[in-house]
Amino acid sequence: MVPRWRSGSAGSALGLPAWGAATGPRGLAPYASRPEWSRGRRVPEALAPDRNAFQRDRDRIVHSTAFRRLVYKTQVFLNHEGDLFRTRLTHSLEVAQLARSMARGLGLHEDLVEALALAHDLGHTPFGHAGQDALDACMKNHGGFEHNLQSLRVVDVLEQRYPDFDGLNLSFETREGILKHCSLRVARHMESLEPHGVAHRFVAGYQPSLEAQLCNLADEIAYNAHDVDDGVRSGLITLDQLMGLRLVRRFHDEAVREHPGLPAMGRRRLLSEVLRRMLSAQVHDLMGTTGARLARARPADAEQARQGSALVGFSPAMRADITELKRFLFRALYRHAQVQRQTQRGKVVVHDLFEAYVQRPSEMPAEYAQRPDTHRAVADYVAGMTDRFALREHERLTGQRVFP
Ligand code: MG
Repeated sequence: MVPRWRSGSAGSALGLPAWGAATGPRGLAPYASRPEWSRGRRVPEALAPDRNAFQRDRDRIVHSTAFRRLVYKTQVFLNHEGDLFRTRLTHSLEVAQLARSMARGLGLHEDLVEALALAHDLGHTPFGHAGQDALDACMKNHGGFEHNLQSLRVVDVLEQRYPDFDGLNLSFETREGILKHCSLRVARHMESLEPHGVAHRFVAGYQPSLEAQLCNLADEIAYNAHDVDDGVRSGLITLDQLMGLRLVRRFHDEAVREHPGLPAMGRRRLLSEVLRRMLSAQVHDLMGTTGARLARARPADAEQARQGSALVGFSPAMRADITELKRFLFRALYRHAQVQRQTQRGKVVVHDLFEAYVQRPSEMPAEYAQRPDTHRAVADYVAGMTDRFALREHERLTGQRVFP
């Protein structure tokens, strides 16, 4: 059988509009991913009567254990530092909201972007990037650790909820979109296990689906905005510092011009309004830039849209402004001594836990303790932990309290 996902003329065969028509059935553009053309699941399953394949993926993600754990995982600020800071869960919800509204505007498949957004951080360790760096160092001689690969591992292997398969048995398009980046060495290894699989594009050099491209940028829009918000809330960065950035200054001035009374209403409200305008501007820029590129490239279907350079993106001017903001956040927030001090402690916790479980695997639940690949089992177990569970386990195993 000719795989349907390869067929460039399948659109007309199925009565879908030629390019030119703005959108097809249910508002989908010709270049949107379509669940009915899905390359399917690793373990074949009957179609659900009431949901398309991507909706079913999204539902499985929302009901997974890894998804619930995101609520107690660090984004930038450690989970116990304050109740109002973003966690991985609220971050993922913000990404999903942004990605869905942009997908709707561009005629892309909303259910696929929603599934991808909700799953994109499932593989993150406790204590944010510090936790991942520590775990990667621990796994140096055992294949390393990378949170993005781990997200795929969570949905492919680690979730254990169904009688017929390990993992969530998601459709190919969702699994492929979850694998955002991958070294050539790892991609070749994955290809040897799953030929023409989710890592194929890294070997053959083509783009991820438009839905996956959109999710990556929605992730960026979301964290740039909420890290500014959380950064100011924490007191580590100030609005005055932010005024040195083009993006902030422009929307601050615009907001004050339209609402002269705004500065007197408090800094919180002023910042929220500036961030809201910044976010909208990035969304509109992305939609305009992407729409223009799509109109020029006129991809006949989702597969053709993946050839050549990425079609989803910002204008060069917006990209430059976003880069300026990111550099600032890196310098002033992520590298701030106070954030570093906390994340350094997170690293110690991850490192100590890893050592303790490798020496005494029986301290882990049986399904991890009994695995023959001890180091990978420990990495999977530690990576799945929430911040506070990791701290409890650390205290239990070492008798130390790292965070006073
Ligand atoms: Mg993210």
